[in-house]
Amino acid sequence: MTDLRTAASHFINGAFVEDAAGDPIPVIYAASGQEIARVHAATPAIVEQALASARAAQAEWAGMSGTERGRILRRAADLIRARNHELSVIETHDTGKPLSETLVADATSGADALEYFGGLAGSLTGEHIQLGQDWVYTRREPLGLCVGIGAWNYPTQIACWKAAPALACGNTMVFKPSEETPLCALKIAEILQEAGLPPGVFNVIQGRGEVGAALVSDPRVDKVSLTGSVPTGRKVYAAAAEGMKHVTMELGGKSPLLIFDDADLEDAVGGAILGNFYSSGQVCSNGTRVFVQRGIKEAFLTRLSERLSQAVIGDPLDEATNFGPLVSARQRDIVEGYIAKGVEEGARLICGGGRPDLPGWYVEPTVFADVTDDMIIAREEIFGPVMAVLDFEDEDEAITRANATEFGLSAGVFTRDLTRAHRVIARLEAGSCFINSYNDAPVEAPFGGSKLSGVGRENSKEAIAHYSQVKSVYVRMGPVEAPF
Ligand code: NAD
Repeated sequence: MTDLRTAASHFINGAFVEDAAGDPIPVIYAASGQEIARVHAATPAIVEQALASARAAQAEWAGMSGTERGRILRRAADLIRARNHELSVIETHDTGKPLSETLVADATSGADALEYFGGLAGSLTGEHIQLGQDWVYTRREPLGLCVGIGAWNYPTQIACWKAAPALACGNTMVFKPSEETPLCALKIAEILQEAGLPPGVFNVIQGRGEVGAALVSDPRVDKVSLTGSVPTGRKVYAAAAEGMKHVTMELGGKSPLLIFDDADLEDAVGGAILGNFYSSGQVCSNGTRVFVQRGIKEAFLTRLSERLSQAVIGDPLDEATNFGPLVSARQRDIVEGYIAKGVEEGARLICGGGRPDLPGWYVEPTVFADVTDDMIIAREEIFGPVMAVLDFEDEDEAITRANATEFGLSAGVFTRDLTRAHRVIARLEAGSCFINSYNDAPVEAPFGGSKLSGVGRENSKEAIAHYSQVKSVYVRMGPVEAPF
């Protein structure tokens, strides 16, 4: 039996810390509506402690060799893998996502990030530029103190995706999880410490938007990495700009998935399911606008409905379940509001739309067909299990309509015509794209959005550029000639 109680709300300077004066934040299990734990939002004193300890720990952490830092991160990855079951159970309680999913997608993905960036840490270098007898060398230096702010859909993964590259580069971090899912990041902090991380290098404090805002505006902070919605991203980016801080913004999307007549039907249906219903649709990169070419449309809808009827909706802790509840009552209300909008706007409800007869915040996997570009369900991010199917005739038209959005996180194409696949992907305005697949996010590949969906990239070698800065040093070997 996994113990869900946490020793205290915050993890600062290598120890659990409490300040019961902070606003209580109940942790509600989405599959029952019951409170399973409770933390307190950080008071100003807690925010101060966290920032001060991260600042104080930074120089010594950056002073270690990359190999030494990397070894600690890789040890943490091993500990996470060894405790995958326990961490997955906590992730399921924090989010409501089924255990069948969390066992393979959350702690494991966090471990991948720690292992990958742990491996890179020892090979971060600058360059040497010869200029005749003189030369320039560059030093790749950490940014300093980074703040990470998380969304609630992947609390373990987000904490690790931010901590791993930041720490590998010699930064320290104060991480604020979403107030909906406060438990997972505390476990990651504990495991990092057990792996040998010096106190103060990775700190976790709880709280809602105000705590995030206090962190972002503090002059000691050098960088902010946010995973959240576009409206929050706008506020955080603007606040960070005041202090000219570096930012990474991983924001929302309304991504297109283009399915051509010649696509493999089973694969296309599988891709559309992975791109809409994993985590009950609470995935930022989901391909929620599914453009289906007219020739394959009816076959696609028929097969999609057949396969969705096989979803096992139920107790997330039962490993046979593969479709769980939404994270909160509020999120369910939002999603149901969009479903009502879709019906009102005249989209054809193919399946779902209702609440299964279960306690907790469930919404059935829902598909609308005959959706048009102007409908709200085709324009706004729903962040729930609602797929909009739109028809198209030809390639050019599909690309133009797919790009007619302010978002640019992801895009996918299903076709057997390889030249078309690459031609279409090259023209789609999105950061993370897929050909005959959807929603893969290996740590080796850059992840992030264009347009309103984000700034910067997580994962891969690209992330190093977003957690470090380059100092260039000119070295003169001869006499200095001055005009006077
Ligand atoms: P949200 O924007 O409501 O909150 C995100 C985080 O920001 C929370 O921790 C919140 O407390 C904090 N916050 C709120 N106001 C703040 C402020 N003024 N200053 C600092 N911090 C503040 O998002 P959410 O509802 O938790 O998550 C869902 C959204 O996240 C969706 O739009 C989804 O697409 C997006 N998302 C994006 C990615 C990605 O990688 N691109 C991944 C997951 C989720």
